[in-house]
Amino acid sequence: MNVAVILAAGSGTRLGGEMPKQFLRVAGKTIMEHCIEAFHGSEDIDEIVIITRPDYLEVVQTMVEKGGYLKVKHVLVGGRERYHSSLAALQAYEGQECNLLFHDCVRPLVSRRIIHDCVVALQHYEAVDVAIPTTDTIIQLDEHGCISAIPPRATLRNVQTPQGFRSSTIREAFNLALQDPDFLPTDDCSVVHRYLPHVPIHVVEGDIDNFKITYKQDLERAEMLLSVQRFH
Ligand code: C5P
Repeated sequence: MNVAVILAAGSGTRLGGEMPKQFLRVAGKTIMEHCIEAFHGSEDIDEIVIITRPDYLEVVQTMVEKGGYLKVKHVLVGGRERYHSSLAALQAYEGQECNLLFHDCVRPLVSRRIIHDCVVALQHYEAVDVAIPTTDTIIQLDEHGCISAIPPRATLRNVQTPQGFRSSTIREAFNLALQDPDFLPTDDCSVVHRYLPHVPIHVVEGDIDNFKITYKQDLERAEMLLSVQRFH
């Protein structure tokens, strides 16, 4: 069984006043609805879990009912950090072996091809990431704000989501991580990479359109791309 976990418990409000960005409307629907539909329409996905904020729980439940998104099996409350939201999904599938694909709700343009490639890769690998080649040179800074390293660009990638795992693997990684007082991951693959270093993480080719809506310009780009998608 393949389960999409839509992480939407963040409070990013920079774009729209009080409203967290996943609830802003783009091309006639909320960013969250576009995101749900991307997974709902994928033949590879059996179930969807949405992790949201406590104050938006009812809003999301109503959205799911009205949209007729029958694959949505759970709408759960997330936590302060992104990983608390991932843990909420893990708890919901306690004792069940499945594939979990964690996805940022604010990447509504994830394609069927990316979802499919992740699911296929999970037949051979326990963990899968999605990334695109880095186009900018990346520099590392020291404590004085000067360059300390310039890693070779050909080896670098920009990470996207979904990030997929066999449930037993991500569960084991989180169990180890939660015993570490210095634990503060930025994404789910970093938990596996750090606490289960022997597990290879396969990388699926992402897409420049699978960007994270962060700035006002991203919203305009999403509006344009999602409007075009509606007419195909
Ligand atoms: O903050 P950032 O843009 O990296 O968040 C990526 C995704 O993770 C967003 O869709 C956000 O709603 C989600 N998130 C979450 N729980 C948090 C923080 C972020 O589900 N505590």
